[in-house]
Amino acid sequence: MAYYQEFEGIVLFQLPHREKDALVKIFTKEHGKMMFFLKNFQQNNHPLKAASVPFTKAVFLGHISDQGLSFLKDSRDLVHCTSVFEDIYKNAYATYMMHLVDAAIEDRVKSQALYLLLEESLLALQRTNCPQLVVHYFEIKMLSFFGIKLNLSHCAFCQQMEGAFDFSISHQAIICPNHFEQDNYRMHISPKAIHIIRQLSYMTSPKQLGEVHLRQETMNELKRLMDEIYEEYVGIHLKSKKYIDQMVDWEQRVMLIKKET
Ligand SMILES: [Zn+2]
Repeated sequence: MAYYQEFEGIVLFQLPHREKDALVKIFTKEHGKMMFFLKNFQQNNHPLKAASVPFTKAVFLGHISDQGLSFLKDSRDLVHCTSVFEDIYKNAYATYMMHLVDAAIEDRVKSQALYLLLEESLLALQRTNCPQLVVHYFEIKMLSFFGIKLNLSHCAFCQQMEGAFDFSISHQAIICPNHFEQDNYRMHISPKAIHIIRQLSYMTSPKQLGEVHLRQETMNELKRLMDEIYEEYVGIHLKSKKYIDQMVDWEQRVMLIKKET
């Protein structure tokens, strides 16, 4: 006898399963991440079609199994991230965010803090004019869920809190110009980009991100810094991240061609 219960969740992704079925991974507020089995999902009139679209938040009714797959029966109060789903860039960024969440914690581990971070970041992505910055906010905040702590508040060698800092991968910290010689491999990131990353780390919600107008060079620097931090400390290689890199690379080549002609 199946026992059904209500829970809130955000759809991370869905996968086709066999010919007619599907698997949907949902990050639930109450029970952590979980894979749900949807029978005959490929039929057009399946009642959970709309609720299973990635990035959708909803209240679900389902059966939570202690082991293996769980089952969904119904849904209500759907919140779709329409602009995220329809915009190729926002869609790619949101997909990457979902995969980062999936990589950061084990299934069935409850984390209200991570749930709130994902929920607020998706909403910010929906509204923003600068999706890349929302993703960098998300990446910075995700580091603690991967067990990584950066020192972005003051120089690794002195108490200096203001100045034209650079970032040192080996010290996991910012370093001030007086101590640049302590790391021959410092990243040579622009002080402006370091300033922005520090600001992002101090924010407690992506709601604090307003309208953003940053130069392309600064955006490139932010990406270089965050990519290096993830490569060195997190070390996961997600397909969705590779897709973003290719997209950005392609976009910049198009911009170069436009400049030249
Ligand atoms: Zn210093």
